[in-house]
Amino acid sequence: MYIPSLFDNLENQDEDQKELPELKLDETLLAAKSCKKCQLSLTRKNVVFGEGPIKPEIMVIGEGPGETEDLQGIPFVGKAGQLLTKIFESVELNRKDIYITNVVKCRPPGNRNPLPEEMEACRPFLEVQIEVLKPKIIILLGAVACKAILKNFLKNFSSITKARGELIFQDDRYFIPMFHPSYLLRNAGKREGSPRWLTWKDMQKVKKFIEKES
Ligand code: URA
Repeated sequence: MYIPSLFDNLENQDEDQKELPELKLDETLLAAKSCKKCQLSLTRKNVVFGEGPIKPEIMVIGEGPGETEDLQGIPFVGKAGQLLTKIFESVELNRKDIYITNVVKCRPPGNRNPLPEEMEACRPFLEVQIEVLKPKIIILLGAVACKAILKNFLKNFSSITKARGELIFQDDRYFIPMFHPSYLLRNAGKREGSPRWLTWKDMQKVKKFIEKES
């Protein structure tokens, strides 16, 4: 008969204290780290899986890691990421309370858009993330994330400009498209009606939504 020793217990303490969803996320992270399902695995420096709490109210999905993210293995840490942090702060939300990830977990060379087959190869990771984290609302940054996630995006909205700020209920979850921060870096004006001003309005809507759902 095998009698677990005191040392077995100590060794397994961290794992034992984790809840099932967290273990599933850990397992998926390991699978992503060794993934070779598409050509992005050949050029990546790091897999950029995602960052944030295990029970977030808000989840953010961007397009794919850029150069800084690829080097650090953390999503949205370059210029667009710094702006994203400021966007959260503009409505008194803290980045550390938000789970941030991307449609593809490896950097597309030269920051090109991810190809359909790359997004498909990566989709199971994102599906597990959404299923495990169960956020109250998912912010989709830019048209690439919207097209990857929302059914009939182009037919229903035709563009991110039309879709942004719309609360969309799909597969038992709420989504809200917003402008990608890289687009906001190229459009720095803040006057009423500008892309930055509209994004601030969209974030206020997100904040109200989670307050109402709490
Ligand atoms: N742009 C993205 O879409 N994702 C990142 O992680 C960084 C820049």
